[in-house]
Amino acid sequence: MQINERQLAQVNSQIQRLLAADNFYGRRLREAGISHVNTVEDFLNLPYSEKEDLREAYPLGLMACKEEEVVRIHSSSGTTGKPVIIPYTAKDVDDWGEMFKRCYEFAGITNKDRIQITPGYGLWTAGIGFQNGCEKLGAMAVPMGPGNTDKQLQMMMDLKTTVICATSSYALLLAEEIEKRGIREHIHLKKGVIGSERWGEKMRKRISTELGIELYDIYGLTEIYGPGIGINCKYDTGMHYWDDFIYLEIIDPETGKNVPDGEWGEIVITTLVKEGAPLIRFRTHDLSRIIPGECPCGSTYPRIDVISGRSDDMMKIKGVNVFPKQIEEILGTFPELSSEYQIRISHLDGKDSMRIYVEAAGSSDFKALQQSVAASVKSRIGFTPIVYVVELGFLPRSEKKSKRVIDERFQ
Ligand code: ZN
Repeated sequence: MQINERQLAQVNSQIQRLLAADNFYGRRLREAGISHVNTVEDFLNLPYSEKEDLREAYPLGLMACKEEEVVRIHSSSGTTGKPVIIPYTAKDVDDWGEMFKRCYEFAGITNKDRIQITPGYGLWTAGIGFQNGCEKLGAMAVPMGPGNTDKQLQMMMDLKTTVICATSSYALLLAEEIEKRGIREHIHLKKGVIGSERWGEKMRKRISTELGIELYDIYGLTEIYGPGIGINCKYDTGMHYWDDFIYLEIIDPETGKNVPDGEWGEIVITTLVKEGAPLIRFRTHDLSRIIPGECPCGSTYPRIDVISGRSDDMMKIKGVNVFPKQIEEILGTFPELSSEYQIRISHLDGKDSMRIYVEAAGSSDFKALQQSVAASVKSRIGFTPIVYVVELGFLPRSEKKSKRVIDERFQ
């Protein structure tokens, strides 16, 4: 999806803003001798930026406006190294709210809905983003935040909430609790807006069937506003994204070159109207593709496919490159297995080994199943893992994101 004239002009003003602020990005552009972009080629010559670069700007080196214009900051989790801090102006917060409102509208949610928000509030962009969009839409926000499942379910019943916003892990946990407590008939949910982690088809089906709701995938990342920059419509043909606020490219992660529409690669995002912290060609490491053609819904907002993983979540095991999604796809071919699994990689006696724990859907011959799964992995990926089929509910459930891969080799 080539950059158009309007977007090019917008990138140009983002560059002028960065140069004037002489912030982290501004200095980088100045050093590269870039003062404007006039053509598609100019744009394609702009340097990429990485999360590492943004960390270097800690704490406020990304700020590209006067400090008195900043009304809020958000921060991405700093599990490794320093966090990234993104300053927002009042307009940035408003723009984000507009995008999020559009997401709800694409999901067919209206001001008559009651929206229970379970992602966390605070430094990160989750809960407050869902809240902002909800208020802009005029719907009733039920701002629960994560956890406290008893109270969560009580409010869901008493307030007759119609929309649940959650990570897929927490939506599954709630669905299982509702089933366990036999309270399904007191639940009035119609839709779920699910964000922030890759999830498989099996998990999706379980949540949607057990809760009896339509599910919508919302996309976004803290560095670029937060969740709300894209969502699927009811035709479920990928996620529409808002190309009046962001320009999105798909690149080959190895060569750094744009790939043709339809081909898989890494998502790179440039903000078009940001004031607090514009980002130029930010490498997200999320893997997707542009979906060519028009959506049956008639919207001209372009679409990307559901995120299939991250370019940096590749595991090297016994010299073989493996992506978690490959294992998930293999597990998905066994109807006797449920959606939850965990991969553990360790190094014993000079050799890598992979153990896969996966929950059964019902009662079956676990031993035979283990052997068929191991054989299937061997034939698709090239080595034999140790497979443990366990009972449904055996693996830990999370209120945030499930940890699917645990690499014990570097601990
Ligand atoms: Zn559509």
